[in-house]
Amino acid sequence: MLKIENLSVNYGYITALKNVSLEVKQGEIITLIGGNGAGKTTTLMSISGLVEKARGKITFKGEDITRKAPDKIVKMGLSHVPEGRRIFPALTVYENLITGTLGNPSLKKDKIEELIEMNYTLFPRLKERTTQGGGSLSGGEQQMLAIARGLMMDPDIIMLDEPSLGLAPIIVEEIFELVLKIRDKGKTVLLIEQNASMALSIADRGYVLETGDVILEGKGKNLLNDPEVKRAYLGA
Ligand code: ATP
Repeated sequence: MLKIENLSVNYGYITALKNVSLEVKQGEIITLIGGNGAGKTTTLMSISGLVEKARGKITFKGEDITRKAPDKIVKMGLSHVPEGRRIFPALTVYENLITGTLGNPSLKKDKIEELIEMNYTLFPRLKERTTQGGGSLSGGEQQMLAIARGLMMDPDIIMLDEPSLGLAPIIVEEIFELVLKIRDKGKTVLLIEQNASMALSIADRGYVLETGDVILEGKGKNLLNDPEVKRAYLGA
């Protein structure tokens, strides 16, 4: 579904990605793990068309999107939920969800209602708070709203940048369970996480990034047991 080949990205003189290659197949949960500054966010921004690429190729659903504009990439069925829960605090939960449809103008009223219902089933807490202002939600609820909004454009793939960041452990567990449920709804998931052990335990496959390079890849469970991953990322 999504393929990155030999991708390099620079910010001025800083090399953020050196030669990254990875693949996400339909229906998979793929996680990218790695320390601060490893290049995880830059990888997602490259896919979404938000940063310039120095070298390499990105293919989505068989089409070369390396130099495609972000709005066109979104319309192809790729949703990006950035780090930091950028919801609209002055809009209600329902209105925030509706803003998520703007990326996909082909959605009809019936489909939008169906997507709202799907989200309210996935996130019952959002249903209870449908008329509440986004800014008055807890951190975990705002993160759920950000993910739900990302699903409102009915994407084939959803990319989540650090959804568990700064949340209480019990909410973190809820977020990871939700990722599994989102996949059960037929979505492909590309997940960036600092919480490597949780991410690898739900992922089909994972890639370990270090200073802009993929240094390891494999099945989630295998990476969980890899001595190098354990030492560097799982605090063993
Ligand atoms: P984190 O988990 O800390 O967000 P990350 O793995 O997502 O890290 P990136 O944010 O992709 O890493 O950053 C990769 C490298 O690029 C880092 O060295 C970072 O300092 C640098 N970088 C990121 N954004 C910019 C920018 N706008 N200008 C200059 N350098 C940047």
